[in-house]
Amino acid sequence: MLSVFPVAAKFTVCSPYGPRGGSIHRGIDLCAATDSPLLAVEAGTANAGTDPKGGNVIVLRSSTDAPLAYYYAHLSAYEGTFPRAVAAGDTVGYVGTTGNAAGGPAHVHFECWPTGVYTSAVDPWPLLRAIDPSLPARPAAHASPWPALFGGAAIVSLAVLAAHFVMVGQNVPRRRLRVA
Ligand SMILES: [Zn+2]
Repeated sequence: MLSVFPVAAKFTVCSPYGPRGGSIHRGIDLCAATDSPLLAVEAGTANAGTDPKGGNVIVLRSSTDAPLAYYYAHLSAYEGTFPRAVAAGDTVGYVGTTGNAAGGPAHVHFECWPTGVYTSAVDPWPLLRAIDPSLPARPAAHASPWPALFGGAAIVSLAVLAAHFVMVGQNVPRRRLRVA
């Protein structure tokens, strides 16, 4: 059972779980300052690896709810040696921009795999809310995830909106882009 928040720092949801750019974003992106600590969300066995997309990644397999597992990506660095048994709240790494997050905002891409494999990924947000009921029912970023990606500006400019549609709406007819 997920019992500890994965990021031990102030964060924003810079991209929620769900459809994105014609595919499914299988995790939630939690943006936080570079090198913010990443914590084991529950007790289990943590393993580390590298992946072209995920960069420096960790898979944490629950010791009490097998085969439940969690995936953390884009770490700037690991903490400790792997594989190893961890307790809930142990630091396993740090927020970064490795893999395909290079050049973008520092964040952890966090996934929850109920059956232990990535194809089973579900939205982690309800699990995170369960340990912090003060979080909104849906990520605040759900309605407008882009300000955080474009430097945290409070005001969404038309240029940013245009960039959004170019990035995620590749199948959108051009006339709709002009309307936007
Ligand atoms: Zn992501």
